[in-house]
Amino acid sequence: MDELPPCPQCHCVNTYPMGTLLICPECAFEWVVGDESESPAAEGVIRDAVGNILADGDTVTIVKDMKVKGSSKTLKVGTRVSNIRLVPGPGGHDVEAKVDGFGPLYLKSSIMKKA
Ligand SMILES: [Zn+2]
Repeated sequence: MDELPPCPQCHCVNTYPMGTLLICPECAFEWVVGDESESPAAEGVIRDAVGNILADGDTVTIVKDMKVKGSSKTLKVGTRVSNIRLVPGPGGHDVEAKVDGFGPLYLKSSIMKKA
């Protein structure tokens, strides 16, 4: 999928490109596509389900069953996920990690707890 990222300011998904900029029709916010320093993950702090600050390379455990898109399998509570990467992903996902049996997945920081 090659969707445009949502607005970092108001999370509106109807963003559109203009030259090298992306523009939000809701709040008129403009930002540069693909500029990591402008991404929400770089600006803000990503916290797990209980408020621990997460960092690249952390190991976490899953605290909520999650159906994996495009798979019939469910990511189970207690699954250990090591070497996470904090990246802004589609649909509010903010963590990327390789999970045993699943391969690379986009996850939400709200369903994990720092191990
Ligand atoms: Zn906006």
